[in-house]
Amino acid sequence: MVPKGADASKDLPPGSWRCAMEQTLLLTRGYEPISVISWQRAIRLHVLDKVEVVETWDQEVRSVCVAFKVPAVVRLVTAFSRHQQKIKFSRQNVLARDRWRCQYCGAKHPARVLTLDHVLPRSRGGKTCWENIVTACSTCNSSKGNRTPEEAGMRPRKHPQRPRWLPLLAVIAARRAIPPVWSTYCHSILGAS
Ligand SMILES: [Zn+2]
Repeated sequence: MVPKGADASKDLPPGSWRCAMEQTLLLTRGYEPISVISWQRAIRLHVLDKVEVVETWDQEVRSVCVAFKVPAVVRLVTAFSRHQQKIKFSRQNVLARDRWRCQYCGAKHPARVLTLDHVLPRSRGGKTCWENIVTACSTCNSSKGNRTPEEAGMRPRKHPQRPRWLPLLAVIAARRAIPPVWSTYCHSILGAS
């Protein structure tokens, strides 16, 4: 017997599923968030036995003969090498490294009002790189001005470094909100908030 509603699937391109678009949080084997992927990719990885489904959304995906819940969180079944991930130097990634906090006064602000500060000013030969750029609020940035940390008496709270590991922070920054079903797995990166 043909399942009810199966005809509607003829209107869709081959391989399509009838489902609201949702995304899937990808975790390492050790439950650390690595990335946000499409649910379609999550299903492909699941079919290939590369991930196990940890949480699901309420929505179901259906083809003519199968129906299952859309994965909300999946976990790799094999070890993931952190070295595989190259972290690009970008404004968003610097803000994420510094957890959206001014590195001088410690205040947390939305990304749109934060600035990037050259610890050693460019006019003094300071480079634009992970080791010389920190997140600063506009007040601290302008009060430090073109002075070195010693001259201004303003030192970054943390010595700026290239992050070796930036799980998902930039993605989360871009999304603005974390779905509740993901939050359990994001404590390790949001704990300092
Ligand atoms: Zn500040």
